[in-house]
Amino acid sequence: MASSSEGERSRGGRALAASEGAPEAGGGIDWLGGLPFLGVHAACLAVVWTGVSPVAIAVGALTLLTRMFGLTAGYHRYFCHRSFRTTRAFQFVLAWLGASAAQMGPLWWAGHHRSHHRHSDTGDDVHSPSAQGFLVAHFGWILSRANQRTKAEWVPDLLRFPELRWLDRNHYLAPLALGATLFALGEWLAAARPALGTSGAQLVVVALFWSTTVLYHLTFAVNSLAHRYGRRRYETDDHSRNLWWLAVITAGEGWHNNHHRYPASERQGFYWWECDLTHYAIVVLSWLGIVWEVRGPAAAVLEEGAGRPSRPVRAASRPAWR
Ligand SMILES: [Zn+2]
Ligand SMILES: [Zn+2]
Repeated sequence: MASSSEGERSRGGRALAASEGAPEAGGGIDWLGGLPFLGVHAACLAVVWTGVSPVAIAVGALTLLTRMFGLTAGYHRYFCHRSFRTTRAFQFVLAWLGASAAQMGPLWWAGHHRSHHRHSDTGDDVHSPSAQGFLVAHFGWILSRANQRTKAEWVPDLLRFPELRWLDRNHYLAPLALGATLFALGEWLAAARPALGTSGAQLVVVALFWSTTVLYHLTFAVNSLAHRYGRRRYETDDHSRNLWWLAVITAGEGWHNNHHRYPASERQGFYWWECDLTHYAIVVLSWLGIVWEVRGPAAAVLEEGAGRPSRPVRAASRPAWR
C-alpha cells in the first residue's frame, strides 16, 4: 500500500493554510434551518433528567447501526453511486432508513454527494477541508443557506420515482416516526418491565438524540478526516485518504481513497484485510436475492493498487460518480 507522498501532503497543507476559517460556500448561515441539527445536539443534555440504562444503550446501538446501514448502503452506495440493484420496494426501505438518520432526504444527499465527487477538493466542493477549512468541511456546510436546496440537476435518474420525491420533501417524517416508536417502546417497557429502569423520554434521548448525534459526526468525519488524514493508495485528483480506524467505525466508508479511485464499486474495502461491514451485509442480502448486480472494483484498479502498473480503466463518458 502506497502512503501519501510528501508532495501531496504539502499541497493540501498549503491550500488549507490559505483557506482555513473561510466562510461557508455562499449564502450565509441559515440559523433557522440549522435549528434541528443544533437542537439534536442540545437535546442530548436532557439525559440529566431522563437518566440512562443498559437497555437504552442497547436500543441506541441498534438504531445507530440500522440507520448507518441506511446511509452507507442506501444513501451512499445505492442512491449516489448505483453500485447494486434491488426492487423498488427495498429501494424505498433504504431511502426511509437513510432519512431516519435526520440527514435530509435521499435526493438532497445524493445530489450533494455526486457534486462532491465531480468537484472534490476544488472551490466548488462544499465540504473540502483543503478548500473550505476543516470545520466547514465537517459540519459548517450543513448550516449554509446555499446548501439547503436539493440539487435536482445531479439526480435525474432518481427524480423519476414519485415516492423518493415525496420522501425528499418530507424527510423529517422518518426521524419523527422513529422518535414516536422509541417513546412508545420506552413507555411500554416502563410499565411492563419497570426493573429495566427505562422510560419513553429516556429512549428518545439516548436511542434517538445521542445516536443521531454520533451518526452525524461519523458521517461528517468521512468528509473531513478522510480528506486529510490517512494513506493514499491511489494518486487521485483529490486529497482523499484511506483511514483504517474510520473504516472500522463507519462500516467501511473510511476506505475513501479507494472509493474516490473507483466510485462505481459497492465494495470500498478493496482487499480482504480491509474491513467493510456494509459490504458484508450487502453480500448477505445478495444471497437472499434482495439485491443483485453488485459491482466490485475493476481488475485493473486492484492490480494498480497492489503496486503493479496502472492502466486507464474509466471510460471518458462515465460520470464522475460512477
Ligand atoms: Zn470524498
Ligand atoms: Zn461516494
